[in-house]
Amino acid sequence: MSRDAFLLELAQRAPVLTDATAREAAATDRSGLLPPTSPFAVVAATAVDHVVATLHLAHEHRVAVVTRGAGTGLAGGAVADDGAIVLDVSRLQHLEIDVANHRAVSGPGVLTAHLDAEARKHGLFYAPDPASAAISTIGGNVATNAGGFRCVSYGVTRDAVLGLTTVLPGGAVVQTGAGTVKDVVGYDLTSLLVGSEGTLGVVVEATLRLLPTPTAVATASALLDDAAAAVAAVAELGATGIRPAVCELVDGPTLAAIDDLRGSDWSARGGALLLVQTHGSGAAADIDVVTEVLRRHAVSVATTTDEREAEQLFAARRDALPALEKRGRVLIEDIAVPRDRVAEAVDRIGAIAAEHTVPIFVLAHAGDGNLHPIVLTDAGPRDPLPPAVVTAADAVFGLALELGGSVSGEHGVGLLKGEWARRQLGPEATALAERIRSVFDPHGILNPGKLL
Ligand SMILES: Cc1cc2nc3c(=O)[nH]c(=O)nc-3n(C[C@H](O)[C@H](O)[C@H](O)COP(=O)(O)OP(=O)(O)OC[C@H]3O[C@@H](n4cnc5c(N)ncnc54)[C@H](O)[C@@H]3O)c2cc1C
Repeated sequence: MSRDAFLLELAQRAPVLTDATAREAAATDRSGLLPPTSPFAVVAATAVDHVVATLHLAHEHRVAVVTRGAGTGLAGGAVADDGAIVLDVSRLQHLEIDVANHRAVSGPGVLTAHLDAEARKHGLFYAPDPASAAISTIGGNVATNAGGFRCVSYGVTRDAVLGLTTVLPGGAVVQTGAGTVKDVVGYDLTSLLVGSEGTLGVVVEATLRLLPTPTAVATASALLDDAAAAVAAVAELGATGIRPAVCELVDGPTLAAIDDLRGSDWSARGGALLLVQTHGSGAAADIDVVTEVLRRHAVSVATTTDEREAEQLFAARRDALPALEKRGRVLIEDIAVPRDRVAEAVDRIGAIAAEHTVPIFVLAHAGDGNLHPIVLTDAGPRDPLPPAVVTAADAVFGLALELGGSVSGEHGVGLLKGEWARRQLGPEATALAERIRSVFDPHGILNPGKLL
């Protein structure tokens, strides 16, 4: 079947956009990868039936499909060129808050922060909170198994997913997970689908765990001489037995970029920022212990129990990536290492930057060992990355594996990290993953070339 005939048939069953503006807008994400061409069409799904029809026809005619939420991904998972159509599910925005069962039933296009805000109207909240919560979708979060600030005590997206409705290539709709807190029937297909980056099926509904909002919240912000002092403080915090809800680190060069963006003065006051938050009835007592530890390492420490004030501090942390993006093209890495190797990781990332003479900025979800070393380059968006940037990035991935960690803690593999993902998994696990993929998607139409 010709492309035109395929599009004609598809357009009878789903809204199809073929104008250049729509196709260009759906071609890339926030990874910095720019495909040489745009997808040949975009399906702007407004109903699950549109997803079913698209996957039925694409499977039958072997057309590649790139599923898209908000396109905020940092690994190139939603990048699409002329060889594919984009299936945009961001308009599927139904949302029900099931107060009695502490859960939400959400369409894939609901923005993460919106779901959380709706839950909060009922004294509940949605724990996974990527820094992109205001702009990313639940479907994208599920597909990437997104992390965030609160993971250190509440877990990642996978820990919040109780069940999924997913459309498979061919158009079958499969329900996984009973949606109950406890459910051990059969293989855990829900967990398999979480983090599958649009390679196994298209998530059209998620049943998500909500939690009662904490009775109290306390926040400490510490300015320290440098990132090494900050990770030393985090290590000592770990030994207190207190498990903070949030523990975020921003290094000095990133603080300077935030200052440039917002006109703030963080970098004049310290060479690294640590934000620690405690939740629950013991929050105030816990933050006292945290503060005592931080004072031994920091230039200054401030605490607050005012949630709006805390939110302003976290807004600065959320500004980090946009601030760096303003300075040039960024290559965002996302390694995870065991908590007791964070100090070594930070130290050796500094050495890699010096050795290759490339600037590497460091943000970290320090409490759970997830670091974002961000390499900045003045290469244009369509230029190949300079060799020094590529070797420095490779050295950081190698470091993650050497320290017993992972090449991606939360952003996913996408187009950027396939080779490193295979290296981390090893040949047996890679072959097993490929076999599983072909069971779901025998013709390989979903996100070809991504993940593995
Ligand atoms: C400023 C900024 C801060 C960020 N901070 C964080 C952070 O703290 N933690 C974190 O984990 N990530 C973070 N990210 C990355 C990004 O926001 C997440 O990966 C997010 O989960 C992507 O959601 P999305 O809706 O934009 O998905 P997209 O980018 O549209 O897609 C991401 C992947 O999911 C697939 N996909 C999307 N929807 C579906 C669906 N319904 N069914 C099947 N597959 C689907 C796509 O094919 C693609 O492979 C950040 C990004 C930015 C720009």
